[in-house]
Amino acid sequence: MIDRPADMLTLTLPDGATRDVAPGTLPGEVVKSIGERLYQAAIAVEVNGTVQDLMTPLRESGAFRVLTARDARALDVLRHSAAHLLATAVRRVRPEARIGFGPAIEDGFYYDFEVDHPFTPDDLARFEDEMAKVAKEKLPFVRAELSRRDAEHVFAGDPLKLERLSELADDEVISTYTDGPFVDLCRGPHVPDTSYLKHFKLLNTAGAYWRGDEHRQMLQRIYGTAWFKKEDLDAYLHRIEEAKRRDHRLLGKQLDLFMFHQFSPGSAFWTERGTTIFNELMGYVRELQREKFQEVRTPVLYNKGLWEISGHWGKYRENMFLVHNNESEELDSSLKPMNCPSHYLLYLSRKHSYRELPLRFATFDTLHRNEVTGALSGLTRVRQFHQDDCHIFLTEGQIAEEVRFLAQFIADFYRTFGLRPAVRFATRPEVRIGDDALWDRAEGALRAALEATGMPYELKPGDGAFYGPKIDFDVTDSLGRLWQLGTIQLDYNAPERFDLEYVGDDNAMHRPVVIHRAVSGSFERFIAILIEHFAGAFPVWLAPEQVRVLPITDEMEGVAQAVVRRMRDAGIRAHLDDRKETLNYRIRDGEMMKVPYMAVIGKREAEGDTVAVRARGEGKKQEVVGVGEFIGRVLGEIRARST
Ligand SMILES: [Zn+2]
Ligand SMILES: [Zn+2]
Repeated sequence: MIDRPADMLTLTLPDGATRDVAPGTLPGEVVKSIGERLYQAAIAVEVNGTVQDLMTPLRESGAFRVLTARDARALDVLRHSAAHLLATAVRRVRPEARIGFGPAIEDGFYYDFEVDHPFTPDDLARFEDEMAKVAKEKLPFVRAELSRRDAEHVFAGDPLKLERLSELADDEVISTYTDGPFVDLCRGPHVPDTSYLKHFKLLNTAGAYWRGDEHRQMLQRIYGTAWFKKEDLDAYLHRIEEAKRRDHRLLGKQLDLFMFHQFSPGSAFWTERGTTIFNELMGYVRELQREKFQEVRTPVLYNKGLWEISGHWGKYRENMFLVHNNESEELDSSLKPMNCPSHYLLYLSRKHSYRELPLRFATFDTLHRNEVTGALSGLTRVRQFHQDDCHIFLTEGQIAEEVRFLAQFIADFYRTFGLRPAVRFATRPEVRIGDDALWDRAEGALRAALEATGMPYELKPGDGAFYGPKIDFDVTDSLGRLWQLGTIQLDYNAPERFDLEYVGDDNAMHRPVVIHRAVSGSFERFIAILIEHFAGAFPVWLAPEQVRVLPITDEMEGVAQAVVRRMRDAGIRAHLDDRKETLNYRIRDGEMMKVPYMAVIGKREAEGDTVAVRARGEGKKQEVVGVGEFIGRVLGEIRARST
């Protein structure tokens, strides 16, 4: 065996073969020596797990792997290169633009520019055209390594780049990449030349502070996406179009459901229509809980003493809104972020017998959690919310049956909306209260109960609540996004901390266990998911406006009013649209508001005690039905809660 010369590098290929190359050899040459076809397909390489491009000299020995368009990591290289392509195009069209950074991000890339006037959609179209031209020119990305002085000279007109340059450590390699006349200060990696960039699209612009610092200048950020295949680009564009069409924040506005205000960030203001949906959901859960649950209400504000007992003060304080009362300067009270401790106080207010167990305290109380402003997003990330919460006090022997009952309850609830939850079992997290023996017991019991239900489930290690393990019900919405909603959590800690007891059949005192349960998670988040799941077209029972009655002319107005009256008396949310607009205009408006049924009344209908019914989503199709029959039909749909 011959030792490799001391100054050579050894590259180990995925199949175990090795190559010795001189330091400074370009990866492109190595790939070419492996095979011409591989070289044609190569986007970049991975050296010891780090991606580098084909034109960056090799400096270390180790594992060497070629990345082609099939590797997920190659997409980042493509997208970052697309950012260069964008900057190249912007500089051609707007030479005065000064350049910032242009990284790859999830699904795409962006590039920041400093310009005197914000970019317009027209600018974007011109940049995109120019990008296509630059791509066709097949300009190689040429790498150069420069001295600091030379680099400062190159970027003399780009203060943002000079700032970056001044921060580079003395021993750091300063590299530039050039395509055409455009030079960027960059460490790479990039695709070999601009012709690799075929399937891209610029999406939008937004203001962005230089380095995310609000004290620095505002830059113009252009977002784009890039893919290896046209099908992938098309599928992605379709996905974002669909997401936009279903975006609950936009639909919430269009359908007049809720709003937010800067004076109460993260807390929804519900309009009459939104409140109707909210109340319908709450009513549904109430109905399901009527037999076996006790609905209760407890305060929102508590002294810290309670949170110290519960463990929230130690493990959860940063998520709580702390306040001080007027007698104290200290922040020694908090709005409740969870209902549990208050339910324990209620439980402690009197003695309980084993005969009462399982005892289920259910509530819809208002909760507050201190999410940072930047994390707030529509109804999915809020500070104020309402859970369909429940705390169950039970004996250890009742756990299996109770978990089966609750799991079935939750699954049935979701089926009503056509949602299929995935069940996940989450175990002890890093930050927690209670000793390991208690956790062993809780995890063992909950897992056994879950297995007994026969529901298939996945494991989520470390994702439990800080006081106990849980079963989560995660729902995938119509766009394939996952949301954690319903939950069943087993808690051996709280009964210890709060000294909860019950009188057993032996007349001695025993410790119960506690189960925390939520069905929809929070109504806020659940409504957001429903809006997007149904794209705003709620099933009749949930729709804020179930029927809109449209008299064709003034003559039928009296009859129309009477029809609306009959519907309302029957319990249908019917509205009259007698605006002095054309019928077509009013129908279009009803369609936009996604009203399930429009009942048109013309002369013939008025005389025959009928309505011409247009069902949502059925186009121009119209069916003449007797008023009584129509009311019966709608009521049937409402009662069945059919989707
Ligand atoms: Zn770059
Ligand atoms: Zn709880």
